[in-house]
Amino acid sequence: MDARKRIHVKACGCRVDAVTGALLQRCPACDMEEMARNGMPCVPPIGPHDALRFERTPDGPRVVLAHNLGKMEIKFDPRFARHSPSGFEWGYGGSGPAELARYLAYGVARYLGVHPSRWDQFDYQAVKWEFVARIPWHGGWYHASEIYEALGLSHYLNEPEW
Ligand SMILES: [Zn+2]
Repeated sequence: MDARKRIHVKACGCRVDAVTGALLQRCPACDMEEMARNGMPCVPPIGPHDALRFERTPDGPRVVLAHNLGKMEIKFDPRFARHSPSGFEWGYGGSGPAELARYLAYGVARYLGVHPSRWDQFDYQAVKWEFVARIPWHGGWYHASEIYEALGLSHYLNEPEW
């Protein structure tokens, strides 16, 4: 059977294997729902070779993840706020930066296939101090390798880029 014909795209956008029914790729809406069921904000997987843009917009600070498949905003979800009800910040070591560092560490944990119940074992305070606090107020482009380094995971940086 043609491998492409085995992929069935559901109305919502989720891709499933037409034969086995196995989920191949979750659509953004179902992804968000699944993370919420785990009591976690929805954070895209952040790979060691991805790039991140931090920028100021009229609506506030914005974080965009760029990888081989395109760009995607990392969105703060107030339902799961832990440090800052108003969302992300960077450039110092406060609560907004802690919230952002938490999402960045979760994105790495997700990329590594770690179950959401164990995401908090990643030391996101280290990501705050070693990475987020050092981003200048106006933001800029950064390499995700800095998050891996802050988490003590720099061995993943040797992984080949595809
Ligand atoms: Zn879906």
